Amino acid sequence: MSARTGRLPPLAGVRRREWLGAGLGLALAGCGTPPASNPTGPSIGRVVVVGGGFGGATAARHLRLWGGNIDVTLVERNPQFVSCPLSNLVLGGYRGLGELTLGYDGLKAVGVKVVQGEAQAIDPATKTLRLADGTALPYDRLIVAPGVDFLFEQVDGLKAALDSGTVTHAWKAGPQTLALRRQIEAMPDGGVFAMTIPRSPYRCPPGPYERACVVAAYLKAAKPKSKLLVLDANPEIQSKKALFERAFKQHYDGLIEYRPNNELKEVSGRQARLEFEDVKADVLNVVPPQRAGDLARSAGLINVNGRWAGVNWLTMESTAVPGVHVLGDAVFAAPAMPKSGHMANQHAKVAAAAVIQLLRGEAVNAAPLVMNTCYSFVSATEAVHVASVHTYDNAEKTFKPVAGAGGLSAAASADEGRYAQAWAQNVWADMLAL
Ligand SMILES: Cc1cc2nc3c(=O)[nH]c(=O)nc-3n(C[C@H](O)[C@H](O)[C@H](O)COP(=O)(O)OP(=O)(O)OC[C@H]3O[C@@H](n4cnc5c(N)ncnc54)[C@H](O)[C@@H]3O)c2cc1C
Repeated sequence: MSARTGRLPPLAGVRRREWLGAGLGLALAGCGTPPASNPTGPSIGRVVVVGGGFGGATAARHLRLWGGNIDVTLVERNPQFVSCPLSNLVLGGYRGLGELTLGYDGLKAVGVKVVQGEAQAIDPATKTLRLADGTALPYDRLIVAPGVDFLFEQVDGLKAALDSGTVTHAWKAGPQTLALRRQIEAMPDGGVFAMTIPRSPYRCPPGPYERACVVAAYLKAAKPKSKLLVLDANPEIQSKKALFERAFKQHYDGLIEYRPNNELKEVSGRQARLEFEDVKADVLNVVPPQRAGDLARSAGLINVNGRWAGVNWLTMESTAVPGVHVLGDAVFAAPAMPKSGHMANQHAKVAAAAVIQLLRGEAVNAAPLVMNTCYSFVSATEAVHVASVHTYDNAEKTFKPVAGAGGLSAAASADEGRYAQAWAQNVWADMLAL
């Protein structure tokens, strides 16, 4: 880390070897043997993908990579991809958001048609996706990976507080991340940073606790009289519990205070009304309760708990709307399967392989295998990880974790910090064809 700027060394300095050395690679991701591609044969069909995040971009790339002559159109509302993974480091001032912002030129170069636009409606009868500007995109198969949107109605005053800019979520990386960083920088020494965590499931189970650590690392150095309150609706830390508890105690004793069973009910200015107490903060960061993204809702894809899209795990095809496949955070997760970028990347590979096979009239892979590794920073430089492998269970028609195949770090280390940076670079390269 540079003593002058507080920034970590540039991401370009991370070597691929270190990632492979970690033994937790993406290389076997998704689906066993991918279908062989034939780039010069007749087109096997038109696939439209909505969402250029971890799920959608990966699917678009692998459809082209494995599908040969297949028409792939990716619809994404934003001009560039901004990564949520590593975005907590921006809050601590250890990375710039520009380092996590990447373009879609790699996908264009491999033959994906990238359309910047807002997908608005799906007509499964005519197999057409309609965009907000009126464009109609016909498809043979549609892949929807819209990520999450927020259940504002569950917290009184939250929408207004976010709209006014008083409160931030920073749970979609971009302007919100920068706004929260500015608030943290402007906070007085001796001020209170309070963050709220919704009940599970939400995007990135360890993400809020990583955020607490990284913001606390900054406060410890720059504003040591401050306090950081973690107000968790859940009864306990939701991922890597012992590792985060150790980090809170070892590095941030007296700075971080963790309060479980504390669900946010109402926001007014920077005041949070929780189930059993009121908290006034100088900076209030609310991770809102979540559901599948808006398009999933308007298209009738949400059919589990009023929040998530149910899928056939062999193909990722929706159990509500035929011909439409759903990926990533929007999906009702299989047992012990996290909502993560890595897992969205894996869903995408299962879907890409299955869509190609369905278009060719071939049988789909009956035994897919997926994996997940999630790194979390506990300081500016040290990280921990949790890893898991999930295999399809034909009897229960879902993915199940493979006993003994995953694991947790024994302790935080700077080596894992470097693996975490390398993981990010590799998954970005894998999804965006960089
Ligand atoms: C702070 C934080 C840290 C995280 N750290 C990690 C980590 O270390 N490792 C990890 O694996 N995961 C991490 N995650 C989780 C990860 O970011 C998500 O699980 C992942 O982004 C899910 O991928 P997705 O494709 O489902 O959704 P997204 O990546 O959110 O992609 C959805 C895309 O769809 C677009 N879109 C939505 N609706 C429309 C529409 N109607 N028309 C056009 N475009 C649309 C959006 O603009 C977006 O680009 C983290 C998340 C957060 C918030």
